Amino acid sequence: MAKFIIDGKKIEAENGATVLDAARENGIEIPTLCTHDEVGSAGACRLCVVEVKQGNRAKIVASCLYPAEDGIAVDTKSERVMAVRRLVLQLLLARCPGSGLIQDLAEQMGVKPEPRFTADTDKGKCILCRLCVRTCEQVVGVSAIGFSFRGADKTVGTPFHENSQVCIGCGACAYICPTGHIEMETTKTGDSRTIWGRTFKMATCKVCGRYFAPEDQLKYISRTAGVPLENLAVCISCR
Ligand code: SF4
Repeated sequence: MAKFIIDGKKIEAENGATVLDAARENGIEIPTLCTHDEVGSAGACRLCVVEVKQGNRAKIVASCLYPAEDGIAVDTKSERVMAVRRLVLQLLLARCPGSGLIQDLAEQMGVKPEPRFTADTDKGKCILCRLCVRTCEQVVGVSAIGFSFRGADKTVGTPFHENSQVCIGCGACAYICPTGHIEMETTKTGDSRTIWGRTFKMATCKVCGRYFAPEDQLKYISRTAGVPLENLAVCISCR
């Protein structure tokens, strides 16, 4: 057990816990956009910065990666912390001016677009949190998407932004995306879904007859889990 302090409150945390884990356990809110229970933390968005003091030293760290250690004192809202968070939001706002989530966070923190950051960096609503990439790799097990280019030009997508032959159209990447950057469209009848530029035929539930999952996704589950395809032909509601 590590014993330490967050915002003046004495905290005990399990060995291996991060400062963010410990804060959440104790009802202390720290904003983050790139942490999710299913895929863990990546230190990508930097919104979760906190100030850690040990003896005479103080440093700004990403709380999602920093271990909860004995004897440290953590400040989640110091002036330094808030200044870094505002700067992070300025950069996110410059990159994703059309994201409602970023706009809301910026408004809550009194951050307005600044001309020095409003270069030609608009990349839709992608904040480079990597949640979609990690979900596809760690949860779905497919690794159909990744990042291309560097710096301000960095974008997420399929290799060479061409139709991926390994993508199964499950939509997990779109569901987990915090800003709604990933577009997934389903036809009115529900018979097909388009994501990452590829259209997937949907399978019907053999009980209720509704379209419920891409055929490619069911084939993938059948292949990897060793379950006969016919056993997967029933939607969750009818199981
Ligand atoms: S839709 Fe494709 S890219 Fe997105 S999580 Fe599923 S397999 Fe990966």
